[in-house]
Amino acid sequence: MKYLPVTKDELKQLNWDSLDIILVSGDSYIDSPYSGTALIGRYLTKNGFRVGIIPQPDLHSGVDITSLGEPNLFWGVSGGTVDSMVANYTASKKRRKSDDFTPGGINNKRPDRAVIVYSNLIRKHFKHTKPIVLGGIEASLRRVAHYDFWTNKLRKSILFDAKADMLVYGMAEKTIVQVAHAMRQKKSWQEINGLCYISNEVPENYKELPSFDEVQKSKAKFTKMFHLFYNNNDPITAFGLAQKTDTRFLIQNKPANHLSQKELDNIFDMDFSLDAHPSHSKDGKVKALDTIKFSLTTHRGCYGECNFCAIAVHQGQTVNWRSEKSILKEAKKFTKHKSFKGIISDAGGPTANMYGFECAKKIKKGCCENKRCISPVVCKSLKPTHGSQINLLNNIQNIDGVKKVFIASGIRYDMIVNDKQFGQKYVNSLVKKHTSGQLKVAP
Ligand code: SF4
Ligand code: SF4
Repeated sequence: MKYLPVTKDELKQLNWDSLDIILVSGDSYIDSPYSGTALIGRYLTKNGFRVGIIPQPDLHSGVDITSLGEPNLFWGVSGGTVDSMVANYTASKKRRKSDDFTPGGINNKRPDRAVIVYSNLIRKHFKHTKPIVLGGIEASLRRVAHYDFWTNKLRKSILFDAKADMLVYGMAEKTIVQVAHAMRQKKSWQEINGLCYISNEVPENYKELPSFDEVQKSKAKFTKMFHLFYNNNDPITAFGLAQKTDTRFLIQNKPANHLSQKELDNIFDMDFSLDAHPSHSKDGKVKALDTIKFSLTTHRGCYGECNFCAIAVHQGQTVNWRSEKSILKEAKKFTKHKSFKGIISDAGGPTANMYGFECAKKIKKGCCENKRCISPVVCKSLKPTHGSQINLLNNIQNIDGVKKVFIASGIRYDMIVNDKQFGQKYVNSLVKKHTSGQLKVAP
């Protein structure tokens, strides 16, 4: 299937009379593993579900949101690849004029607080509809009470504001497939890891966060809440959490297990078209394609723990990396694409030089609660080595048709300094071969 269907005609071409799941997104439909909506849609399809996508629906009529009918199982709602408020405003709170994920590049398609707006749009046009499941970065990072920079206030979990049925957090592939199976079999989904829901009671053995009311009144309680939330993000050690919000509770089940290397490889092995859906072409170019089209995700997760960065509560602090074979296969696929000019824009993850090694203790027993892996000093158990990444980059560069492979993701220099065997060799290799102008240093 070249693209997941976005119109009734495309459903007909597939001989599908209806869809199991409809995904609604604040982005255009870019069929790339860098788009969460495309990736989740393709993964659900691979697991036997019929999935369609409604990209950037019109808010003033029901034309777009009703265009694929009503799903048999659930709606999946995402603000897009970036939180809608970050996508729509600069840090000085000025409206952004451009949007790289909107065809034509003008920022006129994505509403503020998109997951709330889309959930309302669905309910407006479909009374008593199937469950609404929130996902993506906007929902994931707003899953418990949180500070909202745009209003300078605390907000409750976005589940309450969107009045949705469930929120899947993190990268969510495992969770969403389990949810889809549970719904198809009409079984309960409330115990599946990696999701949040609203309940009148707290399940047994769940830890209770300070309530929304308490954190609004006390900064100390907010700090306590954040630490408890932050320290329950490792699938091996986490407890389920609950937070009283008004008269009910936000329930956060423990995180889904990390994907194994084989599972990660299988996801990137799916047959993405690496282009925007053709229906977007009349509205102009999707600029984000310039950077993501020929980029390689080599791994997920980061243990950098820069205090401003939210990656750990979305992707986790354990780095999971793809096999070299899988990455090389994807790079070879690029060389067959009609618009590939020999340049791979990035081979990286949240932090480029975390590829290919992890702390043995962390993999077995989970993250340390009171110790950081690389700050203020690199932990002795980590043993950073850049050997695998040097080999990987060399092998990508040696593929016929590849002229250059760049590192556009940031690098952590503290790990390079700590790698006596390969650190200098890695820097030499980056500077000579893999930097396209600026080398990004993670703080
Ligand atoms: S190293 Fe980069 S990805 Fe990791 S926590 Fe720091 S800023 Fe975030
Ligand atoms: S032992 Fe060190 S490297 Fe391993 S999880 Fe703990 S702090 Fe991180």
